[in-house]
Amino acid sequence: MADFQLFIDGAFCDAESGETFDTIDPSTGESLGTVAKADRADAARAVAAARVAFDDGRWSAKRASERAGVLKAVAKGVKDRAGELAEWETRDTGATVVKAKAADVGGAMFWFRTMAEFAPLLDEPEALPQTMAPGPSYNYLQRDPVGVCSAIIPWNFPLQMAAWKISMALAAGNTIVLKPAPQTPVTATLLAEILRDAGVPDGVVNIVPGPGPGAGEELVSNAGVDRVSFTGSTEVGKQVMRMAAGTVKTTTLELGGKSAQVLLDDADLELAIDGILYGIFFHAGQVCTAGSRLLVGDALHDEVVERLVARAADIRVGRAGDRGVTMGPLISARQLETVLGYIDVGAKEGATLATGGEQLTADGLDAGFFVAPTIFSDVTPDMRIAREEIFGPVLSVLRYSDTDDAVRIANDTSYGLAGAVWGSPSKAQRVASRLQAGTVWVNDYHLLNPKYPFGGYKQSGVGREHGLLGLLEYTEAKHVHVAIDQSRASKRWFDMTVPQA
Ligand code: ADP
Repeated sequence: MADFQLFIDGAFCDAESGETFDTIDPSTGESLGTVAKADRADAARAVAAARVAFDDGRWSAKRASERAGVLKAVAKGVKDRAGELAEWETRDTGATVVKAKAADVGGAMFWFRTMAEFAPLLDEPEALPQTMAPGPSYNYLQRDPVGVCSAIIPWNFPLQMAAWKISMALAAGNTIVLKPAPQTPVTATLLAEILRDAGVPDGVVNIVPGPGPGAGEELVSNAGVDRVSFTGSTEVGKQVMRMAAGTVKTTTLELGGKSAQVLLDDADLELAIDGILYGIFFHAGQVCTAGSRLLVGDALHDEVVERLVARAADIRVGRAGDRGVTMGPLISARQLETVLGYIDVGAKEGATLATGGEQLTADGLDAGFFVAPTIFSDVTPDMRIAREEIFGPVLSVLRYSDTDDAVRIANDTSYGLAGAVWGSPSKAQRVASRLQAGTVWVNDYHLLNPKYPFGGYKQSGVGREHGLLGLLEYTEAKHVHVAIDQSRASKRWFDMTVPQA
């Protein structure tokens, strides 16, 4: 029996093949236990369970206000087990204690609670403009659940993202099969227990950790799935979109980014220096919204680079669970190799390594996957380190000549997920309005909130998650037309004659 099992139709079970894989603590390289390895057959069984659970109405036919009560109980369940969840998140993902508690566990609670608040809005049909032509009628918009949802999430915010997908799907009355990333399956398994204990009926949520080409492909192509939500790389997102097209599934994609932080000349540098570092080095840069490009005007450039380097030296890199550590490891040996590869590319392309640039191995860190906070200056927009998503602690600093130039460089990317402007609010807001990105922070960074929509322009994604806008994406919009005039003569189709003008 695997230490962490699949959760299908309300029961924990092993994979049909009996196969397992190990989940690794990226701070130490040690195994935390075995995980049942879902393959195509297991994913298909989970979809079948979700299909039955949707079609018989055990969840979808409840009033949204009743579903909201269950979601509130889930939020409470997360709160009651917060310590245990945070500890596992730290060990399984290399999240610092603060990140695990605030972003992952705190975020999960916040999402379930907020979607519980939004859900009852779906009970009331929305009035539509009335019409008298061709005869009087009243019209309204009813929101139905879409059906069976599948969700595939990455390894950087496992519990929070599981909560994103599950809370929105459930609030709208859908059932769901979630595939956590194989690197970070533990907290989703614990969440399954919480959902069950909170009264989510069997089959409504199913959890199948496993590799993408097997279980993942099944979840995005199975005809029993109505809606796909994928968070991950742009490359895999394109494959997901292609496969989902087979049965024309509604698809939301939240993909990569190369977000720009624009520093204006009138910024409060005390605030901005720390904020910029947070924008790139939070969770070792393994965040889709990471502000990995800093755009600085010529006047401030040298001072800013100097101050960033000095302040970056205060970041304490170490094992995620250790006291005082502010930056943990990368998720895997593979990710370490990718990030070190990009650092090599940056140096070869002619950027100046201002700080960092190496793997950290001292004090017992050699068994984990640690990279020093790294800053490159003299980066030009054509360099790969200015264009490609690195997903690690690497900041590329680019110069701009004036505000128009800054906006042009910021938008010169195939991505458009997020960005920030540091400066006086009035000037910064004007720049923010010109950035092609789904979220722009002014004098802040990384703040996502279940009440506000989130998603990407361009190749950063399709659709929006969160907020009422995001929740509505988990519904089908049904227009109902009720004719008021009951006389046969008033109907256009009666005896098939064309009415006289
Ligand atoms: P990451 O770097 O987070 O692994 P990916 O975009 O490669 O980013 O993968 C994100 C998730 O998508 C992972 O959980 C992976 O298992 C899954 N995945 C990978 N390939 C496919 C695929 N062809 N179809 C569906 N899911 C996939």
